[in-house]
Amino acid sequence: MRIAVLSRNKNLYSTRRLVEAGELRGHQVDVIDTMHCYMDITSNRPSVRYNGDPLPNYDAVIPRIGASVTFYGTSVVRQFEMMGTYSINESVAISRSRDKLRSLQLLSRKGIGMPRTGFAHHPDKIDDLIKNVGGAPVVIKLLEGTQGIGVVLAETQKTAEAIIEAFMGLDANILVQEYIKEAGGADIRCLVVGGKVVAAMKRQAPTGEFRSNLHRGGTASLVRLSPEERKTAINAAKTMGLNMCGVDILRSNNGPMVMEVNSSPGLEGIEAATGKDVAGMIIDFISKSAEPNKTKTKGKG
Ligand code: ADP
Ligand code: MG
Repeated sequence: MRIAVLSRNKNLYSTRRLVEAGELRGHQVDVIDTMHCYMDITSNRPSVRYNGDPLPNYDAVIPRIGASVTFYGTSVVRQFEMMGTYSINESVAISRSRDKLRSLQLLSRKGIGMPRTGFAHHPDKIDDLIKNVGGAPVVIKLLEGTQGIGVVLAETQKTAEAIIEAFMGLDANILVQEYIKEAGGADIRCLVVGGKVVAAMKRQAPTGEFRSNLHRGGTASLVRLSPEERKTAINAAKTMGLNMCGVDILRSNNGPMVMEVNSSPGLEGIEAATGKDVAGMIIDFISKSAEPNKTKTKGKG
């Protein structure tokens, strides 16, 4: 097969591993810088151009679209879909997962466990917004945040009000969430590929920190999932329509609670913590599933 990894940097661990795993299985794998792709969207024979030439007909693309380039990145993926190229994650599903609020609304509609969450832009009754998710302590998040930035724990009602007021002053959209204390500064990252959890790790925040992000100094270790956790991760991936994703779960007294679903999960941490060939499993899934013109939405939406 001829596979393209859509990535801005061929030296990134995840990108390198996908190329390596593909080549090891006898495929031809190119790294294409998403942001350098351009296209004639009016042509009746859609194509993607790169560096002066049309790209060859790939059997599959693997989008690795960073949060900051979601808008352009998903239009490139959509163009591939219009050409009938198989994408492991479809453009609509990527866009859907990038919007934290939209994701939580979808997961909640499907009855998937999640922390009690409020959403606001400019509430007149901040105290009611906090009360509605069970009162302090609460976690307050900027809707656009990533890697733990913009995620704050407010221990008291007064602090919570002050933080929400500050965020309101920035004209930001905010999530106010029940604090899952019993998670103990840890969360579980489940890597789902093709409707199966292929690897899982526990991330533990350093002492004095509640955010377990590896970028914030969290440490990763191997973890055994309960059947309920496994089911929750699979359901979350299915609800989002993602064939490959990272589902982040908090262990709460009321069962597994999904925090977020990531459509371009990093492979370095999870491969190191589990010793599993996740990149290889992604390639295996693609070679089993990739067929031309299989995209459900054909680049619509
Ligand atoms: P980001 O997208 O920036 O990673 P998250 O929503 O994943 O933001 O939050 C970052 C970290 O903060 C999580 O990995 C988790 O460890 C912790 N955290 C987030 N929400 C809660 C919560 N409601 N209760 C307990 N811990 C939380
Ligand atoms: Mg996170």
